[in-house]
Amino acid sequence: MILLQNVFLNDKVCDILIDKNKIAKISDKISIRADEVIDCTDKAILSSFCNTHTHASMMFLRGIGEDKNLHDWLNQEIFPREAKLKPEHIYPLSRYAILEMIKTGTTCFTDMYFHVAGTLKAAQDMGIRGIIPYLGMDFFDDNKTETDIQQAIKYLEEPLKVSKVKKVLSCHSIYTCSQKLIQKFSELAKKYDTYLQIHVSETQKEVDDCVQKFGYRPVELLYQWGVMGPRTLFAHAVHLNDNEIQLVKNTGTTLAHCPTSNLKLGSGQLPLQKYSDAGLKLSMGTDGVASNNSLSMISEMKLAALSAKNQVDSVLAGKVDDIFKIATQNGFEAFGIKAGEIKEGNLADFILVDLNNQFLLPNNNLKSNMIYAADSSCITDVFCDGKALMRNKIIPYEAEIIADFKRVCTDLSA
Ligand SMILES: [Zn+2]
Repeated sequence: MILLQNVFLNDKVCDILIDKNKIAKISDKISIRADEVIDCTDKAILSSFCNTHTHASMMFLRGIGEDKNLHDWLNQEIFPREAKLKPEHIYPLSRYAILEMIKTGTTCFTDMYFHVAGTLKAAQDMGIRGIIPYLGMDFFDDNKTETDIQQAIKYLEEPLKVSKVKKVLSCHSIYTCSQKLIQKFSELAKKYDTYLQIHVSETQKEVDDCVQKFGYRPVELLYQWGVMGPRTLFAHAVHLNDNEIQLVKNTGTTLAHCPTSNLKLGSGQLPLQKYSDAGLKLSMGTDGVASNNSLSMISEMKLAALSAKNQVDSVLAGKVDDIFKIATQNGFEAFGIKAGEIKEGNLADFILVDLNNQFLLPNNNLKSNMIYAADSSCITDVFCDGKALMRNKIIPYEAEIIADFKRVCTDLSA
């Protein structure tokens, strides 16, 4: 048991008892013999973040291909460099990404990348919640479709020892994947009781090309193909018409809002308030660093809030509590993880922040300070499932992780 003493929560100071992986008790004063007592004077507790869309191993591409639109960026800059990747590169790249996630307060991430074994191992070794997919991307080649299906089944059937990591499936997009692959992955996700993620309607070009090829818009098409539902996550979903918004709502499909990536690649802006008012399930992602260029959910919240207000020219869009919930609770909920709020019975996924940090003073509104003022320098401790991932700003093996990452970057740039 871990006892957090004198911690600031929801405008008052209290004690919090962590028993195994859960928040067991919250009270003004808790007197119990705990295994560890942490003095949290001048610290506040908040939920950690859930990043529902990223590509962890793209870390080596930070700063590559700037100022290009999504399709030129992918085809001219990203895909050729990714072709050099070997399976052994993925573990050090993913570990470095997870290091950045932990430092910026994230304890759960949904990934999408190749050579999945390395990311799976990195998530398990570093103790973070990883929603790790086998990624299907067949480029409409029948042989690759069959290979992807067989590999996906093999991936899902290999047992996992760590409950914090979930094996899921992912198809890259409707412009890189065949109908057969997408539908088969959707069936497999249902059969194996897991989740499916896909990039959807990220750009107007994707929508226009889809209409030209199939006669339907992407979400309409995916609805007809039977892939939508509460266990499906659409990344981006920037360009939806009113009919598609209703389809997303009626099926309970979750969206991953990636405001920085969408703005940076000139893809457009997700109409956050319109989707929220329509009752859509919104979560938040950073996308990979190649299009962000960081994995900080704190930065993502600020941009989401400001761009929501700007879109509708109203300060009532993108309210503080709504944005914080999208970045935390909504993401966990999308994957059936009981976290995202500091309350008794929830999983102990949380961050401690330093209330003497320059960005958090004065403490008139902590969530507002986190969204609009703070950077990750205010985070001192990160806990996931009741275990410390970072204590007093120290993450074990950090120097080794950085050295390994630099070696891989050198290798890939040769
Ligand atoms: Zn993406």
